Parts: sequence; C-alpha cells; structure tokens
Amino acid sequence: MANGAGHYFDGATSARHAVAVEAASDGLRIIGADGAEIARWPYADLRAQPAPDHVMRLRQAGGLELARLEIHDAVLIAEIDHRADSLDRTGTVERRLRKRVIGWTVAATVSLVLVAIFGVPVLSDRIAPLTPLSVEHRLGQSIDAQVRAMLDTKSSGKPFECGTGDAEQAGRAARDALIKRLETAAGLPIALKTAVVRRSETNAVALPGGHIYVFEGLIARSRSVDEVAGVIAHEIGHVAHRDGTRSLLEAAGLSFLFGMLLGDFTGGGLVVIAARTVVQSAYSRDVEANADLYGVNLMAKAGGDPRALGTILDRIAGAIEPGSKILADHPETKDRIAAINAAAHQLPVAPGPLLSPAEWTALKGICG
Ligand SMILES: [Zn+2]
Repeated sequence: MANGAGHYFDGATSARHAVAVEAASDGLRIIGADGAEIARWPYADLRAQPAPDHVMRLRQAGGLELARLEIHDAVLIAEIDHRADSLDRTGTVERRLRKRVIGWTVAATVSLVLVAIFGVPVLSDRIAPLTPLSVEHRLGQSIDAQVRAMLDTKSSGKPFECGTGDAEQAGRAARDALIKRLETAAGLPIALKTAVVRRSETNAVALPGGHIYVFEGLIARSRSVDEVAGVIAHEIGHVAHRDGTRSLLEAAGLSFLFGMLLGDFTGGGLVVIAARTVVQSAYSRDVEANADLYGVNLMAKAGGDPRALGTILDRIAGAIEPGSKILADHPETKDRIAAINAAAHQLPVAPGPLLSPAEWTALKGICG
C-alpha cells in the first residue's frame, strides 16, 4: 500500500484541496486534511487525463465531470499505474492493436501473393501450419454454434449434448477422465473441448480450435473404452495436424484469409461454409493415415491399447451408415486397418483399459 500527497478538485467549486491519497487494495482513498475520507475511487473507474510530465491527473468514470485528483509522488503514481489496468497511460493497448493490424495486413498480402503463385490447395497446405493458434481458436468458436445447429436433429427432445442431466453426471466424469488422460499424453498447444452428442452414427468429428464431437452411436457400438479412445485419439490427430483448418482454407479460400485479416469469423457466409466443410467434407487418404498413426501412438503414450482403433474399424466396417465420416470416406478400410496394426505391433501392450469397469459403464450411460 502506497501513500502520498495530492490535490483534489471537487468539481463543484474551484477550490484546490490538499489531500492524502492512499492506494488501498480496492481503490484510491482520498483523505482530507481533517482525516475524513472524501472519496473512494475503485481502480477500474480511474481515467487518466492529460497532464504534464511527472504529474498524474485522474478522474472517476461516472463521477462528477470536473472532479479530479492530481498526484506528484512518483512512487504513488507507479503504484496506481500498476494497480489500475484501465489507465494505460503509456498507450500500450493502442500500440499492441496497431501491431496486430500490421501483422494481419502482412499476412493477407503474403496470402494473396501465394494464391496468385500457387493457387488455393497448395496455399492451404502452406498457410495452415502458419495460422496463429489464437486465430484457429476464434475460428473454432465461431463455427462451433453453426456445427451444433447442423448436427442437432432435435428429434430426441433431449439436449443435444449428453452429460448435462443429473442422471448423466457419472458419465460426464468418466468422459472428462478419459479426455484428460488422452489430452495429457498428447500435450497439444491448444485445449481440447470434447462433447458427446446425440447422434446415432458411429462417428466423431474434430473442428478447428480443438472442438471434438463424439457421437452417441460411437459409444453405443464400442465394446471397450479403448475403442472409443482410439477413435478420439484419431480425432486428436486431426487437431494436432490442424487438418480442419487446412480443409477450411481449401473450401473457403480467400474469404477465410479476409476473415483472418479482419479477425472476424462471426459474420455470415464463412461460418456456414466452415461448418459445412467440417461436417461434410472428407479428408484424403494420406491425411487419414497420418491421423491413424498419430492416434495409435497417442494411445500407447496414454497407456491404452494401440490396436483398439483397428479393432473397432474392422468390426463396424461392414455396417457403415450414411454420413459416417470415420469410415465413409475410406474405401480402403482394409489397408487402413493393416497399417494401424503394423504400427501398433511395435508398441507396448497396455496393462489394462484406460478407465475402470465402473467408469466405462458410466460412460456408456452418458446419454441417459
Ligand atoms: Zn479422420
């Protein structure tokens, strides 16, 4: 806590009062010569006014227009600057903003040049890894609501997301435990946001920004927790490789880049394109093979069964439902399973499943 002398103008008269100023924990206390508190200004309300060097001139937002406080004590000024984020007397925020605009302008210009030289598909391969995670995060947030709207059939009369009801709490805890285990092993630079949703397909999708939707049908048809985990690990591979962002760049092309430039993905067309891309488009065989490999290794790292992804693919390959992304886009499922098994063969065999039998039962019941 710092104290110092100051001058206070009450805003009603022209009198200049000598006061004591105290930088208390909850704000500035302005204390008159008689020792009585004249005013208490919360730090968030402080506004800096133009003043000569070495003088801090403050007013209170929402307070009397002309009431102000002047402080000359350097130590007290430093303390107030430190405590009141709203002050920003040095122009840091403005400088940061200006830097960001310049950054985006450069990024957009580079992008346009690359489009001209290479065209959009090559461009997306090159830009996706360069897209700042903060942009991917915001993009994911923007399209998340749209994706939910597209996936949510509302036919069950229950909430789209499972695990929200009172009876589903144990399932939710089991889901969180499983995701935490995989996420810790993965060590991604971006936080995962995983939801189990009421869709009957044996499926899961990953959105840009680390959103993963696990369909109820996948959990229903998995015979072990490691099978579910294997598929989620594959989806985490798409997140790690930023495949969603890349395919979005391909589909939305320049509008994505302009969205990046403006830092705004919430408006109109792009969000719809983005959501549709994520839900409907298929990845190439190479992209899927890489996600498989990532998933197999992640399962081993997390202490799960690296072969489980192959096991569930093998079993449900003959019963593909329309729109089932995990399988529909893979005519070469047999090759895929062989590659998964070959990779898993070199990895240690897990001592047991990723969750306890009780947790697995709870997860099975996450949709009520
Ligand atoms: Zn995939």
